[in-house]
Amino acid sequence: MQSTLHFVGGAEAVTGSNFLLEDGDNKVLIDCGLYQGGHACDETNWSVFPYDPKSISTLIVTHAHIDHIGRIPRLVKEGFKGTIISTEATKALVKPLLEDALELLAREAHRCGREPLYEKKDIAAAMKLWKGIPYHEEKKLVDFTLTLLNSGHILGSAMAKLERGGKRIIFTGDLGGGNSPLLSLAEHIETDYLVMESVYGDRVRKEDVDRREQLENIIEDTISRGGTLLIPAFSTERTQDLFYEIRTLMVEKRIPQVPVYADSPLAEKITEAYLKYPEYFNDKIRKLVEGGTNIFEFPELHYVKDAEESRTIAAKPGPKIIIAGSGMSNGGRILEHDKHVLPDKNSTLLIVGYQAAGSLGRRLIEGEKQVTIMHEKVAVRCRIEANFGYSAHMDGEELLEFVNKAKPVKQIFVVMGEPMASSTLVQRIRDFLGLRATAPDMGDKVTLEL
Ligand SMILES: [Zn+2]
Repeated sequence: MQSTLHFVGGAEAVTGSNFLLEDGDNKVLIDCGLYQGGHACDETNWSVFPYDPKSISTLIVTHAHIDHIGRIPRLVKEGFKGTIISTEATKALVKPLLEDALELLAREAHRCGREPLYEKKDIAAAMKLWKGIPYHEEKKLVDFTLTLLNSGHILGSAMAKLERGGKRIIFTGDLGGGNSPLLSLAEHIETDYLVMESVYGDRVRKEDVDRREQLENIIEDTISRGGTLLIPAFSTERTQDLFYEIRTLMVEKRIPQVPVYADSPLAEKITEAYLKYPEYFNDKIRKLVEGGTNIFEFPELHYVKDAEESRTIAAKPGPKIIIAGSGMSNGGRILEHDKHVLPDKNSTLLIVGYQAAGSLGRRLIEGEKQVTIMHEKVAVRCRIEANFGYSAHMDGEELLEFVNKAKPVKQIFVVMGEPMASSTLVQRIRDFLGLRATAPDMGDKVTLEL
């Protein structure tokens, strides 16, 4: 049997994940994500899908990050009427994330004179088509059999395995490197074809420092100087990881009891959703949650209610910790805090996640000494620290080892990375493992024996 795999998004780029597997009338889409990083107004987000949304029978969603789900309501608006399948936890996280993206996209659309990408009713319509299933439950999609496997990236994140006639293809979505204190490791896999992410395909994290110890040191140092520790964080996973870690450090009295402000209404909703799906945590955390411990709550943690309170807190002197979005500092409440923290030599900006090329976060890591925030020139005098110990992605070594354990894979398609990261991983897979690997271009299609 033969099927065709189309790379219709997420090739030659980290974001915009979108793949189409088809055999005649059986058309299965994997992810339908937004392009991010540069401009939300990006033409690619508004351009028509290179397939007819009405013809798609099933959309499989690997996980609840906007670069994997952000164009789903648009797909529905353009006529998709099939079934959407993900894990139950992913389904619970998606709605608040899409509603939040809707506001941001509406502002951007207005700014660049476009119609909104979608409306609230399109999100509601998408949710009606959505079915949550647990890991490892087999689901028939005409003659393909779908199984979702744990990818250890964020709560509920999955690899999608499709099987037919004894042949298998796995779409990894994003792969976690075992750094979350909350999740268990990505599963080992066996497959014939592999479509894999490569965000950190060309990088290796420093493993010699204990990430919790590093966090403890940065907090202690900043507090002793009376400064603010500002952590730009994505609302999903990284924020919950940090709440759990800071809670642990405070409960164990390893850091002083200073106020911790969570300045993201979205993060609050996501944190609530996390607690409803304890079966998706690792065993240790699941037992704590099922035993009644709220692993994300401690007396010093305060959720900031609105933008006005956010501004008051930003201007308030004295030691404190602020966790705010967006994670790449390219919008959101973080910008108001940046204006106060960046010029202050006693404060620290701590980067804990992937920063796309061109984002403010990336430019700060690269050492820019002056940046423009909301038309204001801001000098950078604070300490800039990066702790990738909380990265939700496998690094280059871990990706290679993941493929090595899955050997023998017939063919590997390396996607979802900047071109340099993808091509480095392709080369390493060929050189070290002797397997067939390519980094497809956007729009490529290949025939599979499946
Ligand atoms: Zn992701």
